[in-house]
Formats: sequence, C-alpha cells, structure tokens
Amino acid sequence: MLEMEPFVDTHAHLIGGVDWKLMEEIAESGVLKQAWLMHCPCVSDNIPFADEDEVLECARRYPGLFIPFGYIDFGKGPGEVERLREKGFLGLKAISPLKPYNDESYFPVYAKAEELGMPILFHVGIISKGFWKRLKTPGFPGPGNMKPSMLDTIADAFPKLQLIQGHQGVPWLDELWESLFYYPNIRCSVCGLVDYEWLIRNLDRRCSFGATFSQRLMFGVDGLYGSRPHWQDILDTAVFTDEFFKRVGRTCNWGNSRRNFMAENAAALFGGGR
Ligand SMILES: [Zn+2]
Repeated sequence: MLEMEPFVDTHAHLIGGVDWKLMEEIAESGVLKQAWLMHCPCVSDNIPFADEDEVLECARRYPGLFIPFGYIDFGKGPGEVERLREKGFLGLKAISPLKPYNDESYFPVYAKAEELGMPILFHVGIISKGFWKRLKTPGFPGPGNMKPSMLDTIADAFPKLQLIQGHQGVPWLDELWESLFYYPNIRCSVCGLVDYEWLIRNLDRRCSFGATFSQRLMFGVDGLYGSRPHWQDILDTAVFTDEFFKRVGRTCNWGNSRRNFMAENAAALFGGGR
C-alpha cells in the first residue's frame, strides 16, 4: 500500500481504447482524488489520445473524479466553447494558437468561457519537439505565442475567468511569478519539464493579495490515464513530489504545504474530488 496523501492531478490525458478495468482500480484505490482530463486532438509517439466522446464517457462513469476539459479551436470562435459546454466539458485547454494568447481577436472566446464558468488551462512555454505535426488543427506557432505574461491581459479583462498556467513556461519562468503575484484568478499547474530549482526558490514567495505561492501552485503530471504502464508513471511522479515536499522542503515554510500543493489548492476550481 502506498504511503502517500491522495492527490489531484491538474493536467492529465486519456489514452484511446481505455482499459476500464484499470480505471475501476484507480477509482477504488483512494490514491487519486481527482484528475483534470484534457482532450487533445493529437497523436503522441504513435499513441492515440481519446476523442471527445471517450473523455466525456470517463467523466460520466466517475463523476467528480475525472473533470473533462475541451480543446479550444481558436479558429472556430465562441460558438465552439458553447458547443463544448453543452456537450459536457467543464474546463478548456488552450494550446498552439496561431496568434499570441492575448490577441484581442480571441477575447470573444474568453468572454464565453467566463460567462459559462469554464476555467482555461493554457499551455505556456516550451512544447515537445514536432508537436505541431501531430496536432489535427493547422499551423506552426511554436512556443512564442504562449508566453506566461500574455495571461495577465486576459486575467485583467476577464476577472471572473479562472486561468491556469499549464507547465512552468520554460524559458520564461520569471513571467510566471509576476502573474502569480498580481492576479488572484491565475494559478499554476506544475508539470512537464519541471524546474525544481525554481520551485525551491519561489514556493515561499507571497502574492500581492496575501497568499503564498505554495497555495497557488498545483500538482500535475501530464500523463496518460487508461493504460497500466502510464498509470505507474503517474504514481511514481506523485510519490517523488510528495517526497520532495517532505525531504527537500523540510527546512522551509513551503515544506508544510505538501497537502496544499498535492490536492487542496486545486479544490477551489472543481471541488476536492473524492
Ligand atoms: Zn498535456
């Protein structure tokens, strides 16, 4: 049995052809409180991702445990956000825009998300090599349209919209803390290419509105649910992060924030899960 606090995984994907027996085991294990499932119309290393219907099926089978995020196709405008909400998605994932995230032509999309109460997780910074070739929507934007500071304008213009920095925005990490310092509607889902030195230096920082960064940053893996080897990888990452707080954080204030980082900070958006 794992000696670990149950966690919320704030950035996850679902594999196509889900192993439902495994999902049942995960649901019963008690180790996962909640996972935010990002639909991504893409293929990664020849592994097919689940389509919209499979992501929603998973959320329907395990309500509160899996939270479905729909993929924003910026080319389709606010009507697409409405369609995703009506279909059952509760959050949105933004990635690879053809123009910078804070381009005003995207504001109707953000206005609709704010109106419908759908948080948006924005991929910020570095993106895996060749990703644009595997995405089923056209264009080759690269990471330059996905700088963390672009979220500031959106957070200002739509104060009721919840924005999530997906990853740490490498190589623009300094932009992360400026956004977190000023905006109570910006949080960070830490996963992917994690810079642990940055975490050690920044977890004890304080926001302009009083919270510490350890109350604004959230655990994530960016792993694949629905297949056994991938689930093991997710567990390994959770165990490592848990130990990081216990052992590396032992002499810092943030070392006491393990439960916040692993689960409680995320509860503000979709409840605490199971
Ligand atoms: Zn991802």
